[in-house]
Amino acid sequence: MSDFLNQISRRKFIVTAGASAGAVFLKGCLGNPPETTTGGNTPSTPTAQTVANISPEQAPEVTTVKLGYIPIVESAPLIIAKEKGFFAKYGMTGVELAKQASWGAARDNVEIGSSGGGIDGGQWQMPMPHLITEGLITKGNQKIPMYVLCQLITHGNGIAIANKHQGSGISLKLAGAKSVFSKLKSSPTPFTAAFTFPHVNQDLWIRYWLAAGGLDPDADVKLLTVPAAQTVANMKTGTMDAFSTGDPWPYRIVTDKIGYMAALTAEIWKNHPEEYLAMRADWVDQNPKATKAILKGIMEAQQWLDNFDNRKEAASILAGRNYFNLNSPEILADPFQGKYDMGDGRKIDDKSMAAYYWKDEKGNVSYPYQSHDLWFITENVRWGFLPKDYITNGAAKAKELIKKVNREDIWKEAAKEAGIAAADIPTSTSRGVEEFFDGAKFDPENPEAYLKSLAIKKVSV
Ligand code: CA
Repeated sequence: MSDFLNQISRRKFIVTAGASAGAVFLKGCLGNPPETTTGGNTPSTPTAQTVANISPEQAPEVTTVKLGYIPIVESAPLIIAKEKGFFAKYGMTGVELAKQASWGAARDNVEIGSSGGGIDGGQWQMPMPHLITEGLITKGNQKIPMYVLCQLITHGNGIAIANKHQGSGISLKLAGAKSVFSKLKSSPTPFTAAFTFPHVNQDLWIRYWLAAGGLDPDADVKLLTVPAAQTVANMKTGTMDAFSTGDPWPYRIVTDKIGYMAALTAEIWKNHPEEYLAMRADWVDQNPKATKAILKGIMEAQQWLDNFDNRKEAASILAGRNYFNLNSPEILADPFQGKYDMGDGRKIDDKSMAAYYWKDEKGNVSYPYQSHDLWFITENVRWGFLPKDYITNGAAKAKELIKKVNREDIWKEAAKEAGIAAADIPTSTSRGVEEFFDGAKFDPENPEAYLKSLAIKKVSV
């Protein structure tokens, strides 16, 4: 960020973004309908030419849909597809993007669907679609079948640490910081870390990082769910030690001089799965062509986003008042180029650490590998959030659930219709063995062996 922009935006930024997000959170908390905002000042109206190019067999059954999003970089493909006219190009001229006050609000809204004033689907942490399908996080344990349709992003997330821990050795590796944690553990205020929804990505990244450093997340620290905006406030007043979420939040912590970044998720697991597009199964079953039209629009947005020459424009669209409502797009622009000032003297300038939407070093980002769904479910078993029988017996129960929820078949059909080169369409539902920064390996053929190999876990295998 330039000094000039930094000076004019720093103070104002916290107040504006913090206040508006806080207000939204309060509303959700009190049980009022969560605020939904239709994004974009300029409705993307397709030209007669582009619409005319849709063959009758591919013309969507409906042109409208309501998709929820959270204002973090994970939602960029949805916002770009709308703003650059990619949804409209495939006939989805009435896509409404509804900003969600929190992940809990998104869950509540998909439970009621757009016919009840909610949403048809949208952006999710994992494995929320699976947990909703199983009725494990819904009201009255109602089972709402969901389909995972594509991955939205890899990278773009981090773990932020309060400034009071500067120099304490709390970093990607925690070997030098054990005494800090043990001292806090026996104090009235243990090390407190926050995530934005339990049992999903952010919770799992913090747990993975702590456990890899020899700390038991269930015994050595206090973990809790806090909306991002409130976490920043808590970190400022000193009651929050760490939190994990998507950009621009962690980087804001640094530019606002509240804390530093211990790790990027890209450092914990390079090219890791992050957030996904998932929709209500009943909507997809009723509107298969519209679903593929949505996917084609997103795929085109993902390719557009991965052209680094477009990222300045992307940052300015996302920062807009109707979307992230940032005072300056600069806060997104640097991380979008793989440039992170970690705030503890460490600087990262490596394009391979940036967020990717379409293609990374491992191949296609958009395609939803079933092996990644399995990792998220295995990690839920690891921490006792799901019973062990999901991964014993060759992970038959997990695989059955994934087969039901993960619709990589629809992704492939949409990719073919969009003219994606065969070389860019994965041929296996597994990305194969995954490796983490601490040397641990996840072989999707044997999740039980992965759990056995991990020293710190709640489940006994
Ligand atoms: Ca995330």
